[in-house]
Amino acid sequence: MDDPIVDFHTHLPWRPRDSLEASRALLEAMDYAGVTLAVVINVEFAVRTFLENVSPRRIIEAAAEVLDYLIVARIPYIHRMVMEPEWAVEEHVRFMRENHRDNVDFIRVASTGRLIPVASFNPDLSVMDNLGRLRALGDRVLGVKVFPTLHFTRPDSEKLKPVYDYIANINGLVIVHTGCDPGLWELPPFCSNAKPSYVARAARENKDVRFIVAHLGAYSALNPGIFFREALEALAIDNVYADTSAVDPYFVRRAVEEVGYDKILFGSDYPMVQGLDIASALEDIMMLDIPGKAKRAMVTDNPLKLLKTWHGWEGVEEALKLGRGEVVEHVRG
Ligand SMILES: [Zn+2]
Repeated sequence: MDDPIVDFHTHLPWRPRDSLEASRALLEAMDYAGVTLAVVINVEFAVRTFLENVSPRRIIEAAAEVLDYLIVARIPYIHRMVMEPEWAVEEHVRFMRENHRDNVDFIRVASTGRLIPVASFNPDLSVMDNLGRLRALGDRVLGVKVFPTLHFTRPDSEKLKPVYDYIANINGLVIVHTGCDPGLWELPPFCSNAKPSYVARAARENKDVRFIVAHLGAYSALNPGIFFREALEALAIDNVYADTSAVDPYFVRRAVEEVGYDKILFGSDYPMVQGLDIASALEDIMMLDIPGKAKRAMVTDNPLKLLKTWHGWEGVEEALKLGRGEVVEHVRG
């Protein structure tokens, strides 16, 4: 396995629902792009937490706060959510119920060498329940994803401390969504928990945990680059890294120019960005007007440096040596 290309931010496609089939679709996209390893992040939805934080009235209030952006941007689906807020809430709940994928079901198939799983932290469950699930999955899991948008969970929240302690024990990673998100979370007031400065705060308080600022704080349809400055500032902290998933190549180039390339990881966000597969996301990086060694660092050196110190890495190497790169159903026991 010399010079493998690693995609540090992928997901299983929503369809097919069967996790085994979905894993095969992801592997196909990796093969097409020439990617050897992928970090695969599960998305568990938390309907109860969503309904505690979102109501038709709250949507109207959020829209009123960003009226100037809405008028300029004229994005039809965002306008419809604002004009029909009851529909928007129902539609989100329907989508979440349909597309929820349980961590355990996900990891049963997505821990087979080439696919390296990251579980969702789920705020609909207690912290102890989250921890219990993680412990049961052991070092087959690289870490957890915290979703400040979908889950309204701030990464520097005190309650996450036991989870971070567990991640420190396996020398794993915490990936945090930053910036806005498709759906209601295009309205910036709903993204206020997803600031890289909160990741920076969590990283300062949990020095033995490595944090990844996903999307460089930049994703937003209404206000691209929304928290990009904060992401660059967070990267000054030793245990903070960032990924390029769903980030306009313009911001990737600026990040490399302003803070260097040692802590930036290539990620495609497959299959979340419509019309962008792993191959074209990789091509975007390869076409950047930056030194070749910076590209190599983002797609190979930096990701391997992080993965090789994780306690589950030996298992991945073993699986790859045995040629077990293909998805096989993991036998539980
Ligand atoms: Zn993602």
